[in-house]
Amino acid sequence: MNLSFKIFISLILSVVVGLITGTEYLPFIKWWIAPIGTMFINLIKMMIVPVVFTSLVVGMTSLGDMKKLGRIGAKTLGLYLITTAVAIIIGFGVAGVSHPGIGMEMSGAVAPSVKAAPSIMEVFVAMIPANPVQSMAKADILPVIIFALFVGVGIIQVGGEKGQRLSDFFDSCAEVCYKIIAMVMEVAPIGVFALLLPVVAQNGPKVLLPLLSVIVSVAIGCVLHAVFVYSSLASVLGKMSPIRFFRGMSEAMLIAFTTCSSSATLPINMKNTEEKLGVSRDIASFVLPLGATINMDGTALYMGVCSLFIANVFGIDLTMQQMMMIVLTGTLASIGTAGVPGAGLIMLAMVLQSVGLPIEGLALVAGIDRVLDMFRTCLNITGDAAVAVVVNETEKSHTETVCD
Ligand code: ASP
Repeated sequence: MNLSFKIFISLILSVVVGLITGTEYLPFIKWWIAPIGTMFINLIKMMIVPVVFTSLVVGMTSLGDMKKLGRIGAKTLGLYLITTAVAIIIGFGVAGVSHPGIGMEMSGAVAPSVKAAPSIMEVFVAMIPANPVQSMAKADILPVIIFALFVGVGIIQVGGEKGQRLSDFFDSCAEVCYKIIAMVMEVAPIGVFALLLPVVAQNGPKVLLPLLSVIVSVAIGCVLHAVFVYSSLASVLGKMSPIRFFRGMSEAMLIAFTTCSSSATLPINMKNTEEKLGVSRDIASFVLPLGATINMDGTALYMGVCSLFIANVFGIDLTMQQMMMIVLTGTLASIGTAGVPGAGLIMLAMVLQSVGLPIEGLALVAGIDRVLDMFRTCLNITGDAAVAVVVNETEKSHTETVCD
């Protein structure tokens, strides 16, 4: 039995057991099962900063020259931005058809207790690490990425024997990280079961019903985006059959679905993308860590659906201008969203604020955020891999042209 099948079985098992036991055994589940889930998450978290840092440095140094780096960087960023903007538009489209929130009365709404969202400029300022060691200690991924980019460029610029020595060192470090991750993945089926069981047992199916329309809209939007955008990217630009693409991604998608964290899924995503989709290591280790932090198509799509949902609930008609503003701020907000569970909800506040929608609406979404997070994180990491496949393929043809 392969690993993704085992993970899938444990996911189904946790839902069935959770629905059967309900809240009756909740104290037992919280005391004995939930900590095992936390241990699994900690094992994954333990590897995030080392793998992001070392793989990005290695990714950059193995690209070799600054010209190639610039070309791949521009391609990656361009594709990330375009797919993210398309995701919000799909979110609008689906919500425009399904009308989530229409007919839902506001009597149960309470003021949300989410942290204030940072402004766009604050997001940019926070990207530059005043102290990289501190950023690593706090697992602040965006500044760590920026630092890794500088270290990579520094090594390339120094070049020669000195540069090579350091680049070999980081290469060995990255290799050790990948080995540790493979070991952690062996216990993933147990970890996934322990993570999901408490959530299902506590919430049961009924808590989801009133907000089912939002969940269904986000889920359908994610499926549409994956099927149309990623299939086209994989087949047209990446020259890979969509079936092979999604089959190769299944393990990482399941882990994203259960952990709700792009960062936590990064190690598995890198493994899948290299081993099953045949993306070269230097490209995967540059494109994916960057994508896990700045490319969030699922989060952007969710922002589109939720802002329409909140507008519907409060009886507000969004103008075209407001919608365009949501696409713009949603794209930027998704870049600033950390790849951790629930981060998108905080950034949604920034999007709502930008078009004057009531922030109180967040309270409605907050209750089901975990479920929405599962779908959006799954899409987030799949988008990173789709771009990696395209960059890998187009680089191949570039190399061929250069060799000719
Ligand atoms: N949980 C998402 C991720 O890690 C971010 C979000 O909350 O939207 O990709």
